[in-house]
Amino acid sequence: MRLHGKLEYGGQAAPLRTCVGCRVRTVSSELLRLVVVEDVIVPDLRRRLPGRGASLHPTLSCLELAERRRAFPRAFRVAGPLDPSRVRDHLEGLRVERIG
Ligand SMILES: [Zn+2]
Repeated sequence: MRLHGKLEYGGQAAPLRTCVGCRVRTVSSELLRLVVVEDVIVPDLRRRLPGRGASLHPTLSCLELAERRRAFPRAFRVAGPLDPSRVRDHLEGLRVERIG
């Protein structure tokens, strides 16, 4: 399904971003910003790294969706392949912290 047009901005203060995994549009503060450094996708936790970013829900399921859909090369406008292991490590760390 393809939504028509762009979301209207009327009164909306927070910038909206689309998760590259599940394609849900939400406020950017709920999403993890990712950038590519030498073909490795790295989480930009402080949102300070330069370059084209992609947004992802900080969950393994959205990471897997993005990988399956080959969404990362498209989002970063590179030919790929890209290494998502740093992002996976980060998300698995988050999960452990939440359980522990
Ligand atoms: Zn998502």
